[in-house]
Amino acid sequence: MTKKLIVGNWKMNGSLAVNAGLLQTLLAGLNDDGVAADVALCASAPYLAQLQALLQGTALGWGAQDCSAHESGAYTGEVAAAMLRDFGCRYVILGHSERRQYHGENDDLVAQKAQRALAAGITPIVCVGETLADREAGRTEFVVKRQLSAVIHAVGHCASEIVVAYEPVWAIGTGRTATPEQAQTVHAVLRSQLKAASAHSSRNRILYGGSMNAGNAAELLSQPDIDGGLIGGASLKADEFLSIIASCPPAAAVI
Ligand code: PEP
Repeated sequence: MTKKLIVGNWKMNGSLAVNAGLLQTLLAGLNDDGVAADVALCASAPYLAQLQALLQGTALGWGAQDCSAHESGAYTGEVAAAMLRDFGCRYVILGHSERRQYHGENDDLVAQKAQRALAAGITPIVCVGETLADREAGRTEFVVKRQLSAVIHAVGHCASEIVVAYEPVWAIGTGRTATPEQAQTVHAVLRSQLKAASAHSSRNRILYGGSMNAGNAAELLSQPDIDGGLIGGASLKADEFLSIIASCPPAAAVI
């Protein structure tokens, strides 16, 4: 396995001034400490031009938080994957639980979006995760496999090009993190599914997301099938985000 991947999901936060300050502090912190992981920040669409201007040529990549399932045309308010590419996006988060919950996104739509992203040369970060009710009913494995399966079937031979983020819905923004053992168990299930789908599955990275912070990152990131983190709240605080990056084991030590 290669370097860990740490992705910040800024959600609908930020402003030109706030982003500039945060990026400046992050870049300074990374220069001081070296970069133990691949790192990217996913911002709201209006700020992608700012990220492109400030991050081009740095150790930080950037991406978006959604894209359209359509290529182009009469879809008012939508943002096409090719447009994200114009702004240098390397990643796009797809199927985040907030999009599934508040915008009615289902597995098929997320799968179509993943196809669009890949066609535009952008790596989809496909979010999967169970609700608390799912977990309590013993349906965690069924739910995450169903969510990932829709994407795997849609993207076919490109399955090895996606990043998967396991984000238990009950852990997102709640301060309640999955234990390393709980997360590892689900990551191992997802790893097997990816292995069955592609001979090149060693390229897939599986991130954990859900209240990851400076205090719990090291233990989560030391699990064999946790290849990085998708970080919401803690990515808005430079010191916290830098600590998470610093807690990644160096690539050589990663099994
Ligand atoms: C997320 O929104 O992807 C996330 C993981 O949020 P938080 O870290 O705040 O739980």
